Amino acid sequence: MNEVSQDQGPHVLAESITQLATGLGAISVGIAPVERFWNSGNNVLDDGSSYAPTGYSPEELLPGARSVIVVVVRIPDGVVASNLSPIDTTYAFGNFGYVHLNRLLNSITHDLARFLEERSWTSLPLGPCGSTRFDRAGYEEGRTIGPLHGIFNLKRAALLAGIGGRARSGLVATPHHGTRIRLGAVITTAMLNGSPVLAGTSCPPGCKVCIESCPMDAINGEGQVDHVACFSDQGRRGHTPAESLHEMAKAVPLVGAASGYLPHEHTAIDGVGNRQCRVLCMAMCPLVKVRQ
Ligand code: SF4
Ligand code: SF4
Repeated sequence: MNEVSQDQGPHVLAESITQLATGLGAISVGIAPVERFWNSGNNVLDDGSSYAPTGYSPEELLPGARSVIVVVVRIPDGVVASNLSPIDTTYAFGNFGYVHLNRLLNSITHDLARFLEERSWTSLPLGPCGSTRFDRAGYEEGRTIGPLHGIFNLKRAALLAGIGGRARSGLVATPHHGTRIRLGAVITTAMLNGSPVLAGTSCPPGCKVCIESCPMDAINGEGQVDHVACFSDQGRRGHTPAESLHEMAKAVPLVGAASGYLPHEHTAIDGVGNRQCRVLCMAMCPLVKVRQ
């Protein structure tokens, strides 16, 4: 780790965090002061281009929180290319789109938290913060088509931290890496300079590649994703919404089925033979700049 003094200011500390995260494998880092998460007039993304608040707030997860650090890792282009190949396995994507990158995000956010705690700033690493909550009642009552949520809304945090914009596929798109990314976060009591926010979407007008390429018709015209249809993954976890819901309920070991608790291991990180849909909503998206 870099040697820095404990009394460095918000700007210098933010730069040290970016340097450390980049050295650990992040391609981008953004910072959002917690005030940006409040539903007040200064929330620059209350313009419909953001994500609705879900999960817990930074201060609920870490009392005294002042900043949220969002880190980005890129899904390797070769892994995506392999996923698009007409072979009968998505092994590479399962491992290096999900499992390994989840571990990397855990590792990066843990090391960032450790770095900050060594400087006396209490810090909570969240890693990739996968879906752990399922709003079953909301889904069944038709109040939402996207009922899966994490304990912390990483996509909303990414926008508030200036990582990118909300794409029509429902994913976050960065200026250089498109939607070919994974996100992680650290919540900290350190006061850090916020990154500039990039409002709006970078999707070309009229582009519907993600909507039309999804074999489950899981993305509607407003960019809302039917998580149950997506979870079913071409029948792998149920051919009908009811069957997919049943599979979700089976993933809940105790009383969680009623309250909507879902261990994230059952959503999309099996590792081997993952996603028969081949994640076409991301893989076909033209926003990415493929490395040569
Ligand atoms: S992950 Fe697959 S099923 Fe889900 S929205 Fe993307 S293409 Fe559709
Ligand atoms: S495929 Fe097109 S509409 Fe969908 S997220 Fe990418 S650029 Fe936007």
